[in-house]
Amino acid sequence: MGKKVAVIGSGLAGSMICNELVKHCDITLLERGPRDSIQIPLVKFIKKKLAEVPTFCYGAGGTTNLWHNGLIPINTDDIGSKNFFEVLTDARPYMDQAASALFFKNGSFTAVHDKLLSEVNALSDKLSVFPHGIDCLIYPKKFTKLNLDTGVKGIYDIEHIDFVVEGNRIKAVTYTANGRQDSVAADIVVISAGGMGTPGVLQKIIDATGNSYGDVGLGFIDHPMGFVGKVRFKKDVSKVIKNLCSYDKGEYVSRNAVRLKSKCNRYSACAFFRPALTMDNNLDIYKYKSSLGADSGMARLKKAFSPKLFHPDILAEIFARIFGFNIPSKTYNILFIAEQKRGNNRVYYDGDELKVDWSISDEELAIYREMLNNLKKMLTGLADEINIKTDITEDWLWSAAHHSGTTSMGNAEDDLVDSDLKLKCLENVSVCDGSVIQEHSYVNTGLTIGMLALRLADRIKNMAKE
Ligand SMILES: Cc1cc2nc3c(=O)[nH]c(=O)nc-3n(C[C@H](O)[C@H](O)[C@H](O)COP(=O)(O)OP(=O)(O)OC[C@H]3O[C@@H](n4cnc5c(N)ncnc54)[C@H](O)[C@@H]3O)c2cc1C
Repeated sequence: MGKKVAVIGSGLAGSMICNELVKHCDITLLERGPRDSIQIPLVKFIKKKLAEVPTFCYGAGGTTNLWHNGLIPINTDDIGSKNFFEVLTDARPYMDQAASALFFKNGSFTAVHDKLLSEVNALSDKLSVFPHGIDCLIYPKKFTKLNLDTGVKGIYDIEHIDFVVEGNRIKAVTYTANGRQDSVAADIVVISAGGMGTPGVLQKIIDATGNSYGDVGLGFIDHPMGFVGKVRFKKDVSKVIKNLCSYDKGEYVSRNAVRLKSKCNRYSACAFFRPALTMDNNLDIYKYKSSLGADSGMARLKKAFSPKLFHPDILAEIFARIFGFNIPSKTYNILFIAEQKRGNNRVYYDGDELKVDWSISDEELAIYREMLNNLKKMLTGLADEINIKTDITEDWLWSAAHHSGTTSMGNAEDDLVDSDLKLKCLENVSVCDGSVIQEHSYVNTGLTIGMLALRLADRIKNMAKE
């Protein structure tokens, strides 16, 4: 039945591609993690640790096992690269279908998002202090990890993946599963091993072609994110702010953020306001909050005996998680999420060991400080009190788990994929997952990955007809 397609990786992109192609092609999915559980990978961090919590995982469904399913499109006004702008514009018609596959079941996501934007921005215009407007991140309340259609043949716990290359095509993918070596013949191969996994798979493919390419995995970007301060709004604006921050629409919630821009609009960032009880701006408390969520078993129990547990902001967080209710307050935490540009950060494999060489450059820190100073100025007229750390160091920021940029795309000779996501050095290989996202302003990447996955699946369907 149809062309033989091998998809490597069953995360967000891989699952959506398999489910879309299953009726048209003979699909085999190869996943390095287990079918019914997840594994948290070991990572060697060269400079900065990504976060205290796991930022990706292996297993059926990939990182959708961990995610919060927040959906937001990239605003193409924020994109600098002409090539990637065109790719995003071309993928836009897939937004509703992608959002529906990602559990948004309330009609056209595009229409709902546009309507929310106009409502929230009309509200913010009343305050006349946010020049770049407000963006909306939509969370469907009911969601699960992504699951595969029963027609997809899935092979799990695979190791030692490798490729048989003949001429300019991959003929077969070889692997070990349950201690046995095996292989699958392929007309088309799709690499969807995620921002962290794909560089390792691409390195194997490039080695199998006999070519060399020095920089696989270079260009890694994430969203540096952190709580940077508190603000207590004046009584007369606090009601507007409360409505501006979060809209509960029954089956979904929109969490809204103030858009921020650097000089010449080169970098974007955003700030969410989250209810808090005190004006303390204490990095230790933010780190404690984050690690409390990350630890389990004895480690979590030990943390529970820390006096920090009784800090009112921690108690408010625990209350909100247990009872799903935010204590009413005019005081808010400021959660800052910033853009990174592709540069020298890199993800690579030393044998089987995954190494992540991530940091936030001095130039980026200077830009973030400038944006935070601007935010402070914007809030001045609205607030009774502001306590923002504007001269933040790297220590204040960690990964928002949006691993991107590790597969270069474009027209330059050394770019790995073209705008159709096809690997340039081979005829029948494509890459689709977070790794192909070249710029992501401050935006959670899941919806964009879904749109790119459906766009690629359409191209493969057309190839399958040939
Ligand atoms: C706690 C948390 C919350 C998040 N919340 C959101 C959110 O609200 N909204 C949002 O948009 N995003 C969110 N994300 C990010 C989102 O989950 C990821 O961007 C998304 O899952 C990435 O999809 P992907 O297909 O690129 O990779 P993944 O989903 O990570 O899938 C990659 C798959 O490839 C497999 N793999 C890796 N290497 C190999 C190999 N060598 N061979 C075979 N298989 C391999 C992995 O096991 C995995 O199954 C969140 C992430 C985390 C950690």
